[in-house]
Amino acid sequence: MSVPSTATEIAAAVSSGSVSASDVVESHLAAIDARESEIHAFNTVTADQARATAADIDARVAAGESVGPLAGVPVALKDNMCTNGIATTCSSKILEGWEPPYDATVVERLREAGAVIVGKTNLDEFAMGSSTENSAFGPSRNPLDTSKVPGGSSGGSAAAVAAGFAPLSIGSDTGGSIRQPAALCGVVGMKPTYGAVSRYGLIAFASSLDQIGPFAKNVTDAATMFEVIAGHDPRDSTSIPEPAADVHTKLNAGVEGLRVGVITELMGEGQLQGFEPEVIAQTRAAADALAAAGATVGEVSVPSVIYGLSAYYQIAPAEASSNLARYDGVRYGHRAPGGANTAAMMKASRTAGFGAEVKRRIMLGTYALSAGYYDAFYGKAQRVRTLIIDELAAAYQNFDVLLSPTSPCVAFPIGAVSDPLTMYLNDTCTIPSNLAGHPAISVPFGTGAGDLPVGVQILAPLQGEAVMFQAAAALEAAAPGGQS
Ligand code: GLN
Repeated sequence: MSVPSTATEIAAAVSSGSVSASDVVESHLAAIDARESEIHAFNTVTADQARATAADIDARVAAGESVGPLAGVPVALKDNMCTNGIATTCSSKILEGWEPPYDATVVERLREAGAVIVGKTNLDEFAMGSSTENSAFGPSRNPLDTSKVPGGSSGGSAAAVAAGFAPLSIGSDTGGSIRQPAALCGVVGMKPTYGAVSRYGLIAFASSLDQIGPFAKNVTDAATMFEVIAGHDPRDSTSIPEPAADVHTKLNAGVEGLRVGVITELMGEGQLQGFEPEVIAQTRAAADALAAAGATVGEVSVPSVIYGLSAYYQIAPAEASSNLARYDGVRYGHRAPGGANTAAMMKASRTAGFGAEVKRRIMLGTYALSAGYYDAFYGKAQRVRTLIIDELAAAYQNFDVLLSPTSPCVAFPIGAVSDPLTMYLNDTCTIPSNLAGHPAISVPFGTGAGDLPVGVQILAPLQGEAVMFQAAAALEAAAPGGQS
């Protein structure tokens, strides 16, 4: 039997003994060998460990043990998740060579579920960016067109799934870093409710926004991975004290009677500009497809989302400036030589260790938090955040889920966007869910300019993962070309 391509099929085949985990891992390592030099999805490929894990799984299957819902499934991890004894760099020179002494909770849970870790994927340095061009180790490329970016910041994880290097990968999403690269690479990407997935062992960027979530080839696989990684973890004080939500039971229930609201401000007709017409057309087609499947579709205004970007680019850098203070040349990774005293050593280490975008965020955040400007910048941004939360709550009085494009554009050429503000515009549609702590998912739906994939986003209220996956499965079934 040949190696199947989705996580669900692989886990079933490995568990039943019809395909060995070793064959599964070899076929994925061969795919990596064939195209990784062109794509650069990975910072590290853990081939030896992956082979050893697969052999262990095969032995357990042979002994009649049940291995878990991800038995033998290759998984790639964004390189900001701590892995015991395996370099964890955040694609930054300042962490180069650092090997964590422990596994992140998500890594533990994936291993317990039978997953086979195949490597650590490239990202924008410290997850700051929307194209993976900010990596200190060079950009990743979009497997569908290698002259284009894969999106970011989890570009390596999205590219790994799109290239067939692994059927599942893990990303982190602070302002859209799972959903936007998923959209640009034509795969499914999901950000859970804040607190649904433990962040123990995730290297912090902006702690009030960061969440970990899955990339997959299809909605069912993403749902399986979500259930594996979600659920309470006492080691993360922001973890919701409840078990993982069941998102499978209603997955194929359809959308008959479901109320779907299209967010007016994110459809390119108001103040927010820069939406590609093909992206808007596919989003409208997605809404029509859900209506044809029995949903009640309407428009809903969430006026303050137009200020979401401005609020996010105060709050996220403010939190980052504090979180990144720990990289001082003493405790982790890189230390610059010389320096007459401790302060000079720290300054030299941080100057050499951080890239331009990270330095920009640290300066922006420090400024927003400084005594004279705190209320005008950080305080005002927090008030916008509250407005968005209140307006979304009002929208969910009338709708079960909301709909928008995931990204205003399809994948753009590497090197095409050099101005940081233009790059930030990629996050317009994804940021509101981070500011509110709500779950959201990007589902491939047709293509736009250059025949490149378009992602449509489904947003749901706090802990609304079950209805969000239900709508996502219906959208996937209705997508042009029929997604698997
Ligand atoms: N593109 C956004 C940023 O640069 C989001 C990043 C993320 O979600 N990690 O901050």
